[in-house]
Amino acid sequence: MNRRVLVTGGNRGIGLATARRFLLSGDTVAVTYRSTPPPENVPGIRCDVTDTTSVDQAVAEYEERFGPVEVLVANAGITVDRLIVRMSEEEFLSVLNTNLAGVFRAAKRVSMGMMKARWGRMVFISSVGAFFGAPGQANYAATKAGLVGFARSLAWEFGTRNITANVVSPGLIDTDMTRDLNQKRIDLLLSITPLGVMGEPDDVAHVVRFVASEEARYVTGAVIPVSGGLAMGQ
Ligand code: NDP
Repeated sequence: MNRRVLVTGGNRGIGLATARRFLLSGDTVAVTYRSTPPPENVPGIRCDVTDTTSVDQAVAEYEERFGPVEVLVANAGITVDRLIVRMSEEEFLSVLNTNLAGVFRAAKRVSMGMMKARWGRMVFISSVGAFFGAPGQANYAATKAGLVGFARSLAWEFGTRNITANVVSPGLIDTDMTRDLNQKRIDLLLSITPLGVMGEPDDVAHVVRFVASEEARYVTGAVIPVSGGLAMGQ
């Protein structure tokens, strides 16, 4: 079934792969971007998820162009890695503002349309770091773990209206974000990844696409790892 999909932070990486996956399925898709627009065949809407007005305007623009959002993929995220003794409050809060409050802003704004339609899918991109933690990522891991409680609360709030809220939790995926990691860290993570290799953005995209499908109607409040087995069981 053709659905209207909005992917935040979809000009590159996992968000772009996810948008392309939905487009290939015949869905109507737009992604948000901050400064660099997505490739030509992917519709883009400018949005900074740290700014409520910007999120509200982006969703309003989406609604004007395509109609109400039926599937939200809240993917935009950042890392600002620093050991806690050196991490400033600003560095802590900036990650919270993007990765957690940014998801709140988008989910709140699209929820009205979903409630009216009595159908919706919210998919939040977390990380295995939510459960595993990582030195230097207290801010990041806190936000990614926070998304689990957030999704599960929305699962309760919206369940009777056929709106599901799920978390997809990637492991080590080959994007700009992991290109910043040093090789020692990558080797360590791969040594505890049963599949032994990094994932591709499309590996995550396939799972997001499924969670947003009609076939996944009975899946809500779930945390679905796409991690090659990294941090399994956590
Ligand atoms: P990238 O760094 O490649 O992409 C991040 C995306 O988020 C970009 O589109 C970026 O936009 C956008 N973004 C960042 N801040 C904002 C903001 N304030 N407002 C709007 N958009 C913003 O990362 P990935 O594709 O790897 O990551 C996507 C998601 O997956 C993130 O939530 C990340 O935490 C998560 N994840 C990634 C893993 C990995 O191994 N790659 C592992 C686990 C989770 P812009 O281009 O403007 O900067």
